[in-house]
Amino acid sequence: MTSIPIDPAEVARRLDDLRARIDRVDSVRDLTIVAVTKGFDIDAVSAALQCGITTVGENYAQEMIAKVAALDSETRPEWHFLGRLQRNKVRSLVPAVDVWQSVDRVELIDEIAKRAPGAHVFLQANLSGEPQKGGAPLEEVPSLVDHARSAGLLVEGLMGVGIEGSPEQSRPGFRALVALADSLGLIHRSIGMSDDLEVALQEGSTMIRVGSALFGPRPIR
Ligand SMILES: *Cc1c(COP(=O)(O)O)cnc(C)c1O
Repeated sequence: MTSIPIDPAEVARRLDDLRARIDRVDSVRDLTIVAVTKGFDIDAVSAALQCGITTVGENYAQEMIAKVAALDSETRPEWHFLGRLQRNKVRSLVPAVDVWQSVDRVELIDEIAKRAPGAHVFLQANLSGEPQKGGAPLEEVPSLVDHARSAGLLVEGLMGVGIEGSPEQSRPGFRALVALADSLGLIHRSIGMSDDLEVALQEGSTMIRVGSALFGPRPIR
């Protein structure tokens, strides 16, 4: 992977632009910005922390573990795991992960409950119909939430990924996810990324996950 240098001043400027975009959407309250640093080096994490961001997301187990180890513990952000997750990676991720956002099946729930009792999780719903994006069909999410709660996990919200390249087409899925979170009594709706955050915020996002809008285009993996 080629590494792209990160200029902290540029990240600060991009964060100002991001905040301006958020401010232009009506009635946004208590929003968490997750800085998604996948594909970038540890200096992206440092730059985000310098700007006052306290929540960082990663998609790949090895990359996340390496970054968590490379940061000194005084500056530790809250680390969210966002990627497709294999059961056999759970154990090695436990010391690194604060919130598991991409939980989408019973075997993962059981493994996380076993390795990290009481862990904070989100259930991921598939909003695009593309299996490679992960997530359970919306109609299976309520029973997964029940299963996770019975297993002793703290279910904090739902997560979903929109349809690439078409924010408006993502709106119905975002809306359905928010309605489901409401009906299940879940506080957090982790929807909205660099390209579709306005639509997600209009539909009731409480947490946006932003990579390229903060750090620029990602290196090809
Ligand atoms: C990569 C990724 C993001 C951030 O994507 P950007 O378009 O760069 O903002 C957010 N959520 C998930 C699950 C991702 O994989």
